[in-house]
Amino acid sequence: MDIYSEIKNLKGVGPKLEEKLNKCGVFTLLDLLLYFPRDYEFVDGNPEISDISEELKQIISCKVVSFDRDIRTKNGKKLTSINLKYSDTKVMAKWFNQPYIKNNFKIGESYNLMGKYKKVASHLEVINPTIVFRDASDNEILPVYPLKGDITSSVISKLVNSILCSIVVSENLPQYLLEKYNLISLDEAIRNIHFPSTKEKLKDAITRLKFQELFTYSVKLMMLKNHLKKGNCGIKFTMSPELGDLKKALPYELTSAQSRVVREILLDQKSSIPMNRLVQGDVGSGKTVVAFISIFNVYKNGYQAAMMAPTEILASQHYAEAKKLLEGFDIDIELLTGSTPNKEKIRIKEKISSGLPIVVIGTHAIIQEDVNFTNLGLVVTDEQHRFGVEQRSKLINKGKEPDVLVMTATPIPRTLALYLYSDLDVSIIDELPPGRKKIETLFFQENSRQQVYNLALGEIEKGRQVYIVCPLIEEDEDGKLNSVDKIYNELAEGAFKNYNIEKLHGKMAPKDKEYIINRFKEGHLEAIISTTVIEVGVNVPNASVMIIENCERFGLSQLHQLRGRVGRGQYQSYCLLVGNAKNNVTKKRMMIMTESNDGFYIAEQDLKLRGSGEMFGLRQSGDSGLILSDIIEDINILKCASEEAKRILNSSDTKNIKLISEISKNLSRSSKYICFN
Ligand code: ADP
Ligand code: MG
Repeated sequence: MDIYSEIKNLKGVGPKLEEKLNKCGVFTLLDLLLYFPRDYEFVDGNPEISDISEELKQIISCKVVSFDRDIRTKNGKKLTSINLKYSDTKVMAKWFNQPYIKNNFKIGESYNLMGKYKKVASHLEVINPTIVFRDASDNEILPVYPLKGDITSSVISKLVNSILCSIVVSENLPQYLLEKYNLISLDEAIRNIHFPSTKEKLKDAITRLKFQELFTYSVKLMMLKNHLKKGNCGIKFTMSPELGDLKKALPYELTSAQSRVVREILLDQKSSIPMNRLVQGDVGSGKTVVAFISIFNVYKNGYQAAMMAPTEILASQHYAEAKKLLEGFDIDIELLTGSTPNKEKIRIKEKISSGLPIVVIGTHAIIQEDVNFTNLGLVVTDEQHRFGVEQRSKLINKGKEPDVLVMTATPIPRTLALYLYSDLDVSIIDELPPGRKKIETLFFQENSRQQVYNLALGEIEKGRQVYIVCPLIEEDEDGKLNSVDKIYNELAEGAFKNYNIEKLHGKMAPKDKEYIINRFKEGHLEAIISTTVIEVGVNVPNASVMIIENCERFGLSQLHQLRGRVGRGQYQSYCLLVGNAKNNVTKKRMMIMTESNDGFYIAEQDLKLRGSGEMFGLRQSGDSGLILSDIIEDINILKCASEEAKRILNSSDTKNIKLISEISKNLSRSSKYICFN
């Protein structure tokens, strides 16, 4: 059986099932083999209390001792508790909003309860367990697949099993690597990730496959870099004589960090090796103008330049700023986003494909298939953490070998940047423009909200403006989190009733969003109640207060980004974090925020506390292809994999060359980073 053949060729897969599998992203037999479980259910006959893991579901046979009376929790949920016993250990089972669950239990009877068991003092606790009618005496590990639609885990298991019965997955790492790192074979790993025979085997399988992912990831980044370095086919730009005039025309002097980074970029532009540079700079360090200067030089050399931002708000803001700064230098600048009217789009696209020099500022719309840059010299992507490796390479493919500049305000600790962006050179703007005051950051418990508003109102009286950020748009069922709607309604009637306030969130039409932002910019609104749509880049120097509701819900880097929306002018600014800091981790996180204004330090702490997957949105976007691995958690595997990849890529051993050519061939074929030969 060919593992690249379509899934419908598998016995038992009819058109209906095929469609369902397609919905899960499974098109070929290989896709199915790489469709890893997201979790496992451990059916453990006699788990020792010490073996019980909080991470995994387990089935435990418990005897009912007594029922507690239902109680209402603070947020209005009904809590049902049953006391049980597992041999001599007390087990407390709790359910939310399922009072009828008691009818399924009888005192003195035993039940097999499946759930995640937590050790609390000397007893076990399990939330929302289900009764299963499977014999709990078998030792078994059942895969739980990430599912879409009405397909079940057992259907997937059956299909995977039938593939594995008829093939052996051939090995694709050299034997010496398996030996050196004590890795099991690819075949064994694939079998055990789907059907682990023991917990140890499952661990071995995960380790092997993580190594595989991170090895392939490293190879891919390095090949991208080598390809660019070897290329020698980049554009050699010259220094425009007008650069000096532009600098003079700027409304401020560049900081020395900005000047240094501009120099590094201009040197790259002069070279025949295509530029591939990451500019890191804390929020407010002035990255935008650095990008504009680079764009200016490319334009004056007769080439086209594109600048991509992650949101329409940001794109329009850059557009306005570019118009202002580059005004008087005879530069053709266009804005292209999803909401550009069709007629306009056609006009702009025609201009782009004509090859005339142009600066196009926009959103993802710029990398759509039907935008044909014919003379692209530079691509700038702002707030890079929103764009993955895949998109980066897609962009590069747009032009012949354009220079690439990526800008990010999510500082990445050097060690990590080395691996995460090993295809990029890095410049750092480590200085803020002069005259900025330190943003005063304070934490408030939920119940001192009035104090927060008083502070904000005081600032408004002085002529300043206020942002209020909430984690949700609309109220959710359990009312735990504050929403834009709720806070807006409260404030419009209450504390802010004498002022003009508006809502802003991602579900609004782009035009409406822009309208609100502009009203705020022009000073017609005293406050906006918003979701994190204002997180990136929005620049309103008169705003001096940032209130963040349910601050414990946000990552530190995200809080830092949000905080960066204030303190952009000459006024003393405040970031007021409102939330619940009950547990120690939250307390620690909020302390980091109130004590530090240093984005690099904060990012490092954030990484330690949360892991990279969340921080860079790698997991969610799937762009990185890292399905099992977390760059921080698995940093040790990444280091080894990356070293080995480098060694193999740089060696002239024919065996290795063959391996690399296999990998590169398969990279294009396989959507994921685990490749087969
Ligand atoms: P970020 O690095 O977060 O993208 P911006 O480029 O938006 O920051 O710049 C933040 C603010 O600082 C803008 O209002 C910009 O005009 C201003 N600015 C940038 N460079 C300087 C400078 N050298 N001196 C004074 N103000 C500057
Ligand atoms: Mg910016």
